[in-house]
Amino acid sequence: MARMPGALYRPVVNVHANGVKERRGLCLHVQDDTNSPYGWFNTPSSQASSDFWVRLDGHIEQYCDTGVDYAWAQAAGNPFYASVETEGHPDTPLTLEQVESVAHIYAWGHAEFGWPLKVVDSTTEHGFTYHGVGGSAWGGHTGCPGGIRKAQRQTILDRAAEILGQQAASTTTVSLAHVIDAARRDPTAAQGATTHRTEVLVVERALRAEGLLAAQWVDGSFGTKTKTAYAALQRRRGFTGSDADGIPGRSTLSWLGQRHGFTVAA
Ligand SMILES: [Zn+2]
Repeated sequence: MARMPGALYRPVVNVHANGVKERRGLCLHVQDDTNSPYGWFNTPSSQASSDFWVRLDGHIEQYCDTGVDYAWAQAAGNPFYASVETEGHPDTPLTLEQVESVAHIYAWGHAEFGWPLKVVDSTTEHGFTYHGVGGSAWGGHTGCPGGIRKAQRQTILDRAAEILGQQAASTTTVSLAHVIDAARRDPTAAQGATTHRTEVLVVERALRAEGLLAAQWVDGSFGTKTKTAYAALQRRRGFTGSDADGIPGRSTLSWLGQRHGFTVAA
């Protein structure tokens, strides 16, 4: 069930269930009208719908199970690209709130389906395309969404990249207790043994970025090499003797997290 968090989910009748053939990316549209198209999209005779609609104030509605069912927005392009309708007209730019919301949709699609953060003026390439490029095969709406909104796609993708970066940083948490446990157990366990693999990998990548650990030892196991690298970090931070034994402490781990985008939990 691919429903976007933060979007109001209002399923409509005008969809092709299980029709998606490929999740190539997103197709930008202009509504050339105002107010929610929900009623229109939920009327069989209109033969129209979209995956998303973004109001001028940034409010998002989602009308189908994106990536599974396809909406009726761009004819031959429907099975390959999800669609976003944007409130307003072709001769006016997307509002700042709309740019922000479409960026959130794109960031979600990137995480969910792997949509590349790339503007494409194409009916086949993976990325962020637009309706008019499809010509008559895509319904002949060559003025959709118009030059102004079309040109805002790069700004949207730049913002989507920022959002993804923020999400990655804020969701990466490393437990101090887990890392200590790994540092005590992994060195004496069988080669390559892992105790808390995911969290150890985060720490190892940070040690690697600090130039303290060779790439081949970034393996999720807090083995002897990782312990030696961590001891070097502790000495670099001014610890000596048994305080630089390679078993992580809160001070050094938090310092590492601040520099490499993770937070430390108990
Ligand atoms: Zn359109």
